[in-house]
Amino acid sequence: MTGTQISYYFLCKRKLWLFTNNIEQEQFNDTVAMGRFISDTTYERQKHEIKIDDIVLDFYDAKTKTIHEIKKSDKMEESHIWQVKYYINVLESKGITGVTGLIDYPKLRKTEKVELTNGDKNRLKEIERDIQSIVRSIELPGVIDKPFCKKCAYYDLCYV
Ligand code: SF4
Repeated sequence: MTGTQISYYFLCKRKLWLFTNNIEQEQFNDTVAMGRFISDTTYERQKHEIKIDDIVLDFYDAKTKTIHEIKKSDKMEESHIWQVKYYINVLESKGITGVTGLIDYPKLRKTEKVELTNGDKNRLKEIERDIQSIVRSIELPGVIDKPFCKKCAYYDLCYV
């Protein structure tokens, strides 16, 4: 499981299925490209991306044990929060305890603190099971018809 899958799980199960089954169109989408640009430039002076198994953290401050995740907009806040909870859980599974997360929205000058509770850990196990079941299904989940579909990389595939 990856942070991107967690994020898509909350946004759209169809997107999760398409992404996981390697139907990738993300690199051609302007909105996604802008998100990557913000991520690439905001922390130029303190660029400390770290890779653990299949996940990449934008920035991890080892002194304060803080994961920083950089996002463009807070419209998808729930998915961002669970993505960071998942990252904290991965670090804990590697023996790094006492980690917290900060979601930074540079354009909004806003920061959201994220912590992981025991209840969250149980919920993450359920989410993982659910994700496995969705992505292994031979049935592609239906379109969700949300306003943000227009900015999704799979828009043409879903609606045209
Ligand atoms: S366009 Fe909408 S329904 Fe299709 S994958 Fe994207 S978010 Fe999901």
